[in-house]
Amino acid sequence: MYYGFDVGGTKIEFGAFDKQLNRVATERHPTPTQDYPALIDTLVRLVEKYDAELGQKGTIGIGIPGSQAEDGTVLTVNVPAANGQSLRDDLQARVGREVRISNDANCFALSEAWDVQAQSAKTVLGLILGTGFGGGLVINGKVINGKNQMAGEVGHMRMPIDAWLRLGDKPPMFDCGCGNKGCLDNYLSGRGFEQLYAHFYQPLSAIEIIEQYRQGEPDAVAFVDCFFDVLAMALGGVLTAFDPDMVVLGGGLSNFDELYQAMPERLPAHLLSAANAPDIVKAQHGDAGGVRGAAFLHLT
Ligand SMILES: [Zn+2]
Repeated sequence: MYYGFDVGGTKIEFGAFDKQLNRVATERHPTPTQDYPALIDTLVRLVEKYDAELGQKGTIGIGIPGSQAEDGTVLTVNVPAANGQSLRDDLQARVGREVRISNDANCFALSEAWDVQAQSAKTVLGLILGTGFGGGLVINGKVINGKNQMAGEVGHMRMPIDAWLRLGDKPPMFDCGCGNKGCLDNYLSGRGFEQLYAHFYQPLSAIEIIEQYRQGEPDAVAFVDCFFDVLAMALGGVLTAFDPDMVVLGGGLSNFDELYQAMPERLPAHLLSAANAPDIVKAQHGDAGGVRGAAFLHLT
């Protein structure tokens, strides 16, 4: 049995998965965001409850919005109670088994990579076009973490020069939460999509911009054409570096279906001439991806 926890800024979602990766139990609790002992207690109670109910000790994986340093210390803004704590070691000591922790983008990518449709793909790049732009790289069913647990964090690569020029005479230089300027996170995320539109036209939500695009409103049509070019230019560099078999998109902007026609048309111009663009598909598991991927940290 595989247990997964998706620990977010508002709720903790628990899922138990059997050997066939079917979900057999689900539970949600509010996250004790300011109280670390209460956070640990919530996790321990769920583990003990389902050990007893399912008659076996499940493996434990946790997805968090943040990262884990080499010594096991968690770094997260959204769950202050866990920030700077040795969540892995403290939980291991309480439940008597190995605990694996990874960030939520990696869990998303892992969940999609273990989807039936994706299992022929050896290398899967998961990209989240949500509030932020983040990613996770899975090779042969295993998350690639890297030295600093930051492999796949494409959101903090800077805008490529051709994409920058495509934005026109006076492109905005957005500050990034990481302290740098010009990170892809602020241009290609749902938030980036909106702040670019506000910069060039007017403040609208992503949904409103897409509606106006579909109605043929000239500003929205010109903007989306530019955005698709910028996305293809940025992804061109990312795909040349990782050369994945498949790219899975998640997050709010992944529901902009026109993307899946535009990218295969526009990407080849931004790849090396001998390269074929990978399949680019929409995530199959939506919000459940976090808890699935957390549980699947123990599959390899
Ligand atoms: Zn950044």
